[in-house]
Amino acid sequence: MPQSQAYPFDIPRKTPVPMNDNNIGGGRCPVCNGPASIAASGSKYRGKGVVHHHWLCRTCGHEWITVLHVLV
Ligand SMILES: [Zn+2]
Repeated sequence: MPQSQAYPFDIPRKTPVPMNDNNIGGGRCPVCNGPASIAASGSKYRGKGVVHHHWLCRTCGHEWITVLHVLV
């Protein structure tokens, strides 16, 4: 089989799962898709296992919040 031909059956299983490793480190800036700060710039416990993490994009300065559910 020639190398120039793609294997259509390989494409689906190589598709990355978006939610796989996105829980640690804040992920990407929703505005510019740049890397966020390594650690959350602030965390606030909202009760009942809900924690809000505040993130700061080092590229454009955008701030956003992720909601983390913690087992208590
Ligand atoms: Zn940004």
